[in-house]
Amino acid sequence: MTTALVTGAYRGIGFEVARQLGERGLHVFVTARRRDAGVKAAAMLQKLGAKVSFVELDVTDAKSIRNAAESVAEQVDRLDVLVNNAAILEDADENIVGVGPALVSRTLDTNALGPLRVTQAFLPLLEKSRAARIINVSSGAGQLSDMGTWAPAYSISKTALNAVTVQIAAALHDKGVAVNSVCPGWVRTEMGGSNAPRSVEEGADTIIWLATEAPRDLTGKFLRDRKEIPW
Ligand code: NDP
Repeated sequence: MTTALVTGAYRGIGFEVARQLGERGLHVFVTARRRDAGVKAAAMLQKLGAKVSFVELDVTDAKSIRNAAESVAEQVDRLDVLVNNAAILEDADENIVGVGPALVSRTLDTNALGPLRVTQAFLPLLEKSRAARIINVSSGAGQLSDMGTWAPAYSISKTALNAVTVQIAAALHDKGVAVNSVCPGWVRTEMGGSNAPRSVEEGADTIIWLATEAPRDLTGKFLRDRKEIPW
């Protein structure tokens, strides 16, 4: 059975990605830092008939990540798909000139270092897959080619995440691991707000495609709507 793990998966785009991967018959590890919310989300997907397991995972906490990797390794012999989805956006109303360093640090820690830590911890399991795929959920806000003044900490963190994608893709190229960044578009979630034009289904589309059907040699790219976009 193909296996997948999604971070920050109890709500929003992460939950929808877990739902769709479960619907396609994958064994999905729904992870969240909040145990109650994660257990509830996993139970909802199990009721829909999916093979889903909950594992607690805080992407900022090395011990939590280590425990999660150990728990997954006890349950399956390999990981085929890793979706680094968890992120925070706390500076939508801030400006780079005044944004506090603590907020910048917290945001980088969660959005850029989090996916790096999780990828490193799960690499031994990913390398046991014949065709592993890592999908980093980024944002157009991190595009240097189109960057303004909005949400400086969040934007910088997504630029850094894109660099993590390029580095990991290069490092794992010879092992046949596909690693890409995705912008889901502006999506109606707690983060995106109710005015966003896209549904979670639309936001999850490119992530699901990369996780399942995309050409294996597509790696080290930044995509939106299944097409490459500039960094
Ligand atoms: P949500 O805010 O709805 O979900 C974010 C998830 O990340 C929550 O489950 C949250 O859990 C979790 N999370 C945050 N910090 C941590 C942590 N330290 N450890 C584990 N989980 C954590 O956001 P979306 O679903 O909208 O966003 C999903 C992804 O899509 C993000 O990477 C986001 O940057 C990206 N994106 C979203 C856009 C949009 O318009 N919605 C646009 C562009 C990109 P908790 O409650 O514990 O914080």
